[in-house]
Amino acid sequence: MLLCFSSLAQNIPSRWDELVASDWPKAMKQSNRTCILPIGILEKHGPQGPIGSDLIHVREWAARATKIEYAVVFPDFFYGQINEARHQPGTFSLPRRLVLELLDSTCAEIGRNGFDKILIINKHGGNPELIRYFIQTQLERRRNYAVYFFDPKFDSTYSAKVAKMRKSDPKGDSHAGENETSTLLYLRPELVKLDSSKNESGENQKRLQLTDLYTAIWWYASYPNHYAGEGGKATKELGKLITDNVIAHLVAALKEVKADTKTLQLQKEFFDRVDKVGQDNQ
Ligand SMILES: [Zn+2]
Repeated sequence: MLLCFSSLAQNIPSRWDELVASDWPKAMKQSNRTCILPIGILEKHGPQGPIGSDLIHVREWAARATKIEYAVVFPDFFYGQINEARHQPGTFSLPRRLVLELLDSTCAEIGRNGFDKILIINKHGGNPELIRYFIQTQLERRRNYAVYFFDPKFDSTYSAKVAKMRKSDPKGDSHAGENETSTLLYLRPELVKLDSSKNESGENQKRLQLTDLYTAIWWYASYPNHYAGEGGKATKELGKLITDNVIAHLVAALKEVKADTKTLQLQKEFFDRVDKVGQDNQ
């Protein structure tokens, strides 16, 4: 009897921690040596959302996407850049060197276990700079795996649909606002305390006005409640639209990563040239 790829994919779990060790070769084959590293954070999400909101999102995205396109999913990774919420309870913020070290060692361990493609997915707004820097530093020494960052670009048809459904001003909608609370309402409604959303202001306090300048305190100056937007205007319908779109992009990205041989080939070519620089000049 012939088994199609998708029915095979249902055979073994995606989550690394749920796999049986003897199924490792099967997981390697079905994932084409691709592992998703879902990165969230532990931080307050306004007066209504759970502290692990970002983690919950990436966990759900990975679980849903890998049901369609198989890959192994590394367990929850909630270490990142979250200094700006240290004045709020529940924030888990590690020293910067340790965060980079953990990320690097985690990828190295994923690589040592046979994966040569690691796809980072992230939901926390304070992480992209860290992740991009981490990826840039992948070229500091030879590695036999490549790290990719899921960075979806949304089309105008989708953006127009979202704009039509939204109830709050998109300019002020950010951390724990309408969009993010909507996706939580869709993914884990039982964890959202929508009635509490008005207990604090999510408005930009504009306490620091600087031109063409960037400082560490900009976010706290604007949003001291670690809340930006109007979470109370969230709906499950908007949450479904946003989530379905992200998952469609993630499935496409996963397919692209699984099929990609060029990145590793170029990475190897680069390191071969790096090794030769000294020799050529002798
Ligand atoms: Zn968030």
